[in-house]
Amino acid sequence: ESFGHVEKEERYLFESGEPIVNQVRQEVWRNGERVWNQYTKMPIFDAFGEVTGLYGYAHDVTDKKRSEQLIWRQANYDHLTQLPNRRLLGDRWHGAWQSHLRDKKSIGLLLLDLDGFKMINDSKGHQAGEGVLISVAERLRRCTRGKDTVARLSGDEFAILATDIKVESDLDVVISKVVRQFSEPFIIDREEVVISASLGVALAPRDGSDLDSMMMYADQALHAAKRVAGTSYRKFSAELHEAVSKQFTLGNDLRYALRNREFTLNFQPIIDLETGKAVKVETLIRWHHSVRGWVSPVDFIPVAEQTGQIVQIGDWVFREAVATVARINQEKGLNIGVSVNVSPRQLQADNFDPDDWLEYMSDQGLNPELMVIEITEGLFLDPDEKVLRALDRFSSQGVRVSLDDFGTGYASISFLENFEIDVLKLDQAFVRDSERSPKRRILSEAIINMAKALEFEIVAEGIETQEQADWIKAAGCEFGQGYYFSKPLTEGRLEEYLEGL
Ligand code: C2E
Ligand code: MG
Ligand code: MG
Repeated sequence: ESFGHVEKEERYLFESGEPIVNQVRQEVWRNGERVWNQYTKMPIFDAFGEVTGLYGYAHDVTDKKRSEQLIWRQANYDHLTQLPNRRLLGDRWHGAWQSHLRDKKSIGLLLLDLDGFKMINDSKGHQAGEGVLISVAERLRRCTRGKDTVARLSGDEFAILATDIKVESDLDVVISKVVRQFSEPFIIDREEVVISASLGVALAPRDGSDLDSMMMYADQALHAAKRVAGTSYRKFSAELHEAVSKQFTLGNDLRYALRNREFTLNFQPIIDLETGKAVKVETLIRWHHSVRGWVSPVDFIPVAEQTGQIVQIGDWVFREAVATVARINQEKGLNIGVSVNVSPRQLQADNFDPDDWLEYMSDQGLNPELMVIEITEGLFLDPDEKVLRALDRFSSQGVRVSLDDFGTGYASISFLENFEIDVLKLDQAFVRDSERSPKRRILSEAIINMAKALEFEIVAEGIETQEQADWIKAAGCEFGQGYYFSKPLTEGRLEEYLEGL
């Protein structure tokens, strides 16, 4: 190695008379060993103030330097995957932003979250989970170029900082590389397992100019991507932001809705197509917002699910529905069943105990066999031990489980085999589309036949006309629900309706 810098330094000392104090430098011994030295050099002056020589001392600070480097590594890298952590990502962002100011190229931020990672951890063990994280880290490294940063933020959350983006399609290249990485299965316990991931993407400076807002925007996009099954990505956009802010205010207002008694329940009759009579009712929540007026459950239920408020709201719905139907049955000597929509988040909640609900039904005098829990098939994508135990417990007491919106989502036939399901609710789209498309009609009929052969009860939703009712009955479906029979009714209207039977 050249000692040029030593010569230069000493020449300067001779010329200026200024000492060099506590410099640290790496040096290489002739045997190849690298050491860190800390040294001080002082000038020696003659009587005329000229530098005539120098003296100095040095000591080996290699150990100190190594431990400093180790500490730096620990503070900046994730131990498990050896990827930069959140802190270092911050530094890298800073560097990337400085380059952007000079060369005007954009910076992409991709946030990635594995789907169902918790389940892998729970079912296959921690070590398997860690193995997956290490493979994900490797795969993500493969998608990036030298200057880009792949970081692990926490748990199963990763980030990619893609620099030097000249046009948006440069970013699309990175995104599709990442998406492709998840089409290959992972190996867990010598078994191939397909793991999907959701990606949220933001682009600086178009979407934001500091890391905090970029993270927030990419995270909003990630949440939107999470709602789609399988590996998918979503880019941040102004419309998305708009929707998120609206959801945010809704979420805020939801906090007061229960206390202010802004919720009510509607009940929609479900008809036995053979007799034409109502055998049960589906409970549908209604929210009258003090300023906005009626807000549809389609808009606020997903918000309540995200914020966790669904647990409290759903508990209220359940109790109110049970109390109402039990009272009507007793007063009118009827045996009407009641169906309640339950979101998986409720069953997952720490303080949820199916026995509380069973006890409440028995207090109110409602036979558990009249109770139906409606869940959406999305639940079975990420089946949680706790949810399955709760459903088992309900089944063991005669409560029935109904799969809502069947046929549109991503339920595979194998769910029907593996879970305690008694009722299938054929999605509205089947009734609607079957009228127009013969293929769709054949498909609907095949589903109905299959469901009957497997001894599921089947309810067709969204029947609006006599023709639809006739067709669905001819197709072999036993139960129907829809505006043709009755719209969702208030409690008072329901009583009148049932009297008229
Ligand atoms: P869902 O459980 O599939 O409920 C059926 C939806 O279809 C209801 O909308 C109902 O009013 C509507 N509908 C009924 N008959 C017809 C028809 O003939 N034509 C048409 N076009 N629509 C019909 P709604 O009340 O707006 O509820 C929407 C969704 O919100 C429900 O879909 C359910 O997923 C959710 N939801 C409602 N109440 C609750 C609740 O208490 N808890 C939870 N977790 N979700 C709820
Ligand atoms: Mg439903
Ligand atoms: Mg439905």
